[in-house]
Amino acid sequence: MNLESRKIRLVMELRSAGITDARVVAALETTPREEFVPETFRDRAYDNVALPIGHEQTISQPLVVARMTQALEPQWNARILEVGTGSGYHATVLARIFRRVYTIERHRRLLKAAEARLTALGITNVTTRAGDGTLGWPEAAPFQRIVVTAAAIDIPPVLTGQLAPGGIMVLPMGHAADQQRLMRVRRTDEGLETEDLGPIRFVPLVEGFPEP
Ligand code: SAH
Repeated sequence: MNLESRKIRLVMELRSAGITDARVVAALETTPREEFVPETFRDRAYDNVALPIGHEQTISQPLVVARMTQALEPQWNARILEVGTGSGYHATVLARIFRRVYTIERHRRLLKAAEARLTALGITNVTTRAGDGTLGWPEAAPFQRIVVTAAAIDIPPVLTGQLAPGGIMVLPMGHAADQQRLMRVRRTDEGLETEDLGPIRFVPLVEGFPEP
């Protein structure tokens, strides 16, 4: 099967798994995932699985990217912060749906590779930074949306502090990989409202100085 037919199969899988937001489906359909995985995994770029990208990190499973993006209740006008750029795949998907994307990665080498991909794809509405994403991006805050693509132990208060009124943050939470939950946090007039959106599996969010 060639990549194009594999992509069609993936899009059908996303739809039957409850991805009903047309913008989300279109964003995944128009993002060439084969450009974000190592050469050896190119054939599997449209399999619905996470794949290794080096430094013990992974590019997220397409259904997980789609679920998280849909849970963000996309709005073109919104500015979004992503913590955990990784391969740059999810940032590229977000760039097709949100006006402006800010993304932070603690591994400089992963970030460099992600930046090169964004440039090659001609994406101009993503701003990148090497650093500890648990500190957020104070100069660009507040954000209408925040997505964390590594598992936190608790809801990071610094990040909710950078969420605009009415804003939404989506993040995987939990210690052990098999006990994580996808959480949605909403900033309302009454305070923070959290919802459990079901099980999920992610690499851990690591606090502290960036890796070289
Ligand atoms: N969104 C990525 C996948 C993320 S994997 C993609 O589409 O490919 C999780 C990423 O979070 C890893 O690259 C890891 O290095 C990064 N990470 C973990 N803790 C972090 C932190 N505190 N700040 C920034 N990035 C972090």
